[in-house]
Amino acid sequence: MSDGTDLEWARTREVLEGERERTLAAVRALDRDREGIVESARLSAVDDEHDPEGATLGFERAHVEALLAAARRRLDDLDRALERLVAGTYGVCTSCGGPVGAGRLAARPAAALCIACA
Ligand SMILES: [Zn+2]
Repeated sequence: MSDGTDLEWARTREVLEGERERTLAAVRALDRDREGIVESARLSAVDDEHDPEGATLGFERAHVEALLAAARRRLDDLDRALERLVAGTYGVCTSCGGPVGAGRLAARPAAALCIACA
């Protein structure tokens, strides 16, 4: 491995770990939001079972849970990308084995598939 490749490898790991850190923070924040909504729903249910606010809270909860699921998937993607980086298969499409492409990786560092397979 040349010095240039080592440098690229280290930079890629830095990008992926930075993304992972931010995504983990987002997961934690969304988790707190969800707990807040669940608690509000519980309190309003005590006040009045037919409180119209209950529907809004249900909607908010579904929204936060969707965001949470997306953030968790992203965290998984980043973990797998880091594993591929360590294994030396980062940037190789996990479906066809072709190159994912530098431009695509720059835009989506955790991309596992080339544009044709995505
Ligand atoms: Zn492919």
